Amino acid sequence: MRQYLKFYIDGQWADPVAPKTAEVINPATEAVSGTISLGSPADVDKAVAAARRAFATWGETSVKERLDLLEAIQEQYLKRERELGEAVTEEMGAPISLGCGFHTLLGKGHLQTAIEVLREFRFEQQRGSSLIRYEPIGVCGLITPWNWPMNQTCVKVFPALAAGCTMLLKPPQLAPYSAQILAEIIHDAGTPAGVFNLIQGQGSVIGTAMSTHPDIDMISFTGSEPVGVQIQKDAAETIKRVGLELGGKSPWIVLDDAEMANNVAGATTGMMGNSGQTCSAGSRLLVPHARLEEAIKASADAANAVTVGDPQGNFAMGPVVSKSQFNIIQDYIRKGLDEGAQLIAGGPGRPDGLDKGWYVKPTVFVGTNDMVIAREEIFGPVLVVIPYKDIDDAIAIANDSTFGLGGYVSGVDADECRQVARKMRTGAIWINGGFDFHAPFGGYKRSGNGREWGEFGFHEYLEVKSIIG
Ligand code: NDP
Repeated sequence: MRQYLKFYIDGQWADPVAPKTAEVINPATEAVSGTISLGSPADVDKAVAAARRAFATWGETSVKERLDLLEAIQEQYLKRERELGEAVTEEMGAPISLGCGFHTLLGKGHLQTAIEVLREFRFEQQRGSSLIRYEPIGVCGLITPWNWPMNQTCVKVFPALAAGCTMLLKPPQLAPYSAQILAEIIHDAGTPAGVFNLIQGQGSVIGTAMSTHPDIDMISFTGSEPVGVQIQKDAAETIKRVGLELGGKSPWIVLDDAEMANNVAGATTGMMGNSGQTCSAGSRLLVPHARLEEAIKASADAANAVTVGDPQGNFAMGPVVSKSQFNIIQDYIRKGLDEGAQLIAGGPGRPDGLDKGWYVKPTVFVGTNDMVIAREEIFGPVLVVIPYKDIDDAIAIANDSTFGLGGYVSGVDADECRQVARKMRTGAIWINGGFDFHAPFGGYKRSGNGREWGEFGFHEYLEVKSIIG
């Protein structure tokens, strides 16, 4: 059983001002896996005061000093990578190969990227008669979700540290362990007191205290659209900068020249990864109408081949994060059936033989873009295959969404793939499986604002000053 009852404030492990605890549930077993403390606004005040004090010196450090710290953190991260991965698996149910694989790799990648960006970044640039200076924005409030805990945390913490900001991190109650270990790593690396602080607790309490806090200069949030809206409202009174990375309903267009079976299978398996709990998941698979039957077979075969089971075992997919997420997903599957979508794999209920744990069947529907299952973010292993008439129709369907986070194009003709990508109204488009830690990541429309990853993510934590004349 894990017990994380102290917060990390001002370089020390501190008791909450008013003791209150909550149990954390292992989604694979439904059993209690540990206990955390839940903080109060008084804890936020303490942490913000520490971060403000620390900013006076950390904000003035040289690039070399910040690089030295990031490299010391990297050394500690590498030593405890396995432990981080195991914590991710326990808290949110990712298969151990994924928890200790891509989950921790993403955290490591953002750390390395922050180092690379910091090495090259020009904090002062002469433009005509003006000197343009980039300066750290100040004290940052970082609010993270449970679906990719290391990714979402590291993509905020490390650029903020590199920029010279100080911070308070609030991890999700559902997945609090890996962030706690990260705090130990940051402490052991010799981070000056107050630069990094961590408080566990309820979003409605701690998160609100952060968004409304007069001494926090910016909030970076990843999570659901309603909470993003609430944070903007809460932050309005103090005019703080708010970076939002919200949901998605990302289209994956398979072009007519593409080899259908492998591309559709890859898109289907990709959708089921992390139990479909990925904001940029390609949850609408757009295929040429003339090749629909071929696509249906490939997608159903791929979904049926996804093995589901104990995250500690050798399975491709574990449970979803919680009972509440399980119920939301089951409701969407029922809605899909009610609105007449054609079920070609999976369906309601748990997979056979799994009676405990929040396991969902890898599910594929064939439907139309006006269906609820094609419009709303399900955040589970549920894919909708949608046929298109021609490429203009495919682009129109892709863009007919309130979201605009990710997009995917599979095809042989590289020019055509890029042409299609140019016309898609989303923040990032991956062509034939591309991946780049330096490419900016963020949403158009209701998928949010601002950009994370690479140098664009670094800018989130910087103010711009003009010195004219
Ligand atoms: P939330 O948006 O509720 O949670 C994300 C983070 O915000 C958590 O740390 C949460 O705290 C915190 N939070 C909650 N309320 C507030 C508030 N009023 N002010 C400040 N912070 C707050 O997401 P859920 O966990 O409820 O997931 C629900 C849905 O959100 C999913 O089904 C999915 O559609 C979407 N989602 C999208 C993600 C993405 O990457 N874009 C990631 C996760 C979810 P706590 O939960 O600890 O109380």
